[in-house]
Amino acid sequence: MNHFEKASLGIFPTPLYRLPNISNDLGTNVWIKRDDLCGVALGGNKVRKLEYLLADAKRQGYDLVMTTGQAQSNHAMLTAACALRMGMDCMLVLKKRGITARKGNQILNYLMGVDVRYVDTDRYDEIYEEMDRIGRQMGRRVYKIPCGGSNALGSLGYIDCMKEIADFGQHFDHLVCACGSGGTAAGSVLGAKLYLPDTQVMCAMVDDDPFDVIVPHIMREAAQLLGVDVEIPVPELLDVCGPGYSIPSEEGNAAIAMMLRREGIVLDTCYTGKAFAGLIRQARAGAYKPEDNVLFLHTGGAGGLFAQDWEGTETSPRFA
Ligand SMILES: *Cc1c(COP(=O)(O)O)cnc(C)c1O
Repeated sequence: MNHFEKASLGIFPTPLYRLPNISNDLGTNVWIKRDDLCGVALGGNKVRKLEYLLADAKRQGYDLVMTTGQAQSNHAMLTAACALRMGMDCMLVLKKRGITARKGNQILNYLMGVDVRYVDTDRYDEIYEEMDRIGRQMGRRVYKIPCGGSNALGSLGYIDCMKEIADFGQHFDHLVCACGSGGTAAGSVLGAKLYLPDTQVMCAMVDDDPFDVIVPHIMREAAQLLGVDVEIPVPELLDVCGPGYSIPSEEGNAAIAMMLRREGIVLDTCYTGKAFAGLIRQARAGAYKPEDNVLFLHTGGAGGLFAQDWEGTETSPRFA
């Protein structure tokens, strides 16, 4: 397999352990992989991707990194935190839509003193053009990281994560992860094919992009990068989006409440709450046997939880 340079940014391996209360509640063995505890800012899945992406930027001599996402993007915040640590400049060119008062990840961007530009478009091609334009204006070369860090190089971080899980030595029948821009799902499905061949990976989709096309596309490119000759698996997808991307769902909020009350673990409204709701839904539908081991990949996102407006709810959410 081809080898790619990685920056050392996170604390790995992240903790992995069984959740006794939730296992009891759901009638199967539920485990958690705490990539939220990977040690940079509020943690999360983007750090594994950025270890590859920023090493690539550095190797090629870039000292200005730009990325994009929503106003509350965990990925953008973590890109800034990681780039700054590596002594590179970072500018965030974010979507204007959904911008709130300075809350959640925006507080962290503000404290880091990152230059944040908001652009009034939903089209990423226009945003990447804007990055080039700003770069030319500044007379600097720009290393552009795509939304979510979800290209083939970034996805290698989750191939590593699957190897890390295999090295832990516990067999898992199922793994559930959130899928927002597809890189984590691609790395996890391809990584499982290589290192956890008996584990079924379920990608819980938190937006309505065509992941049946996007995820295999990233996997094909990642396999090519690695120089491995594998059959590209068909990803198993579950729709947990609810009312829309980044709009909290009732099911997701109930899952957040359950995880916090029963295990003291914080999930978020945009990704991990909805993904965990998908796991609960599967368990309730009888998809897991009592003796099965089901691993939930906690991809982080705590910052976003504190950007939500929780006023006006009388009782806290509950799962039916
Ligand atoms: C970005 C993100 C995801 C989704 O990962 P993708 O690789 O973009 O699909 C899941 N959880 C959190 C907290 C995220 O920030």
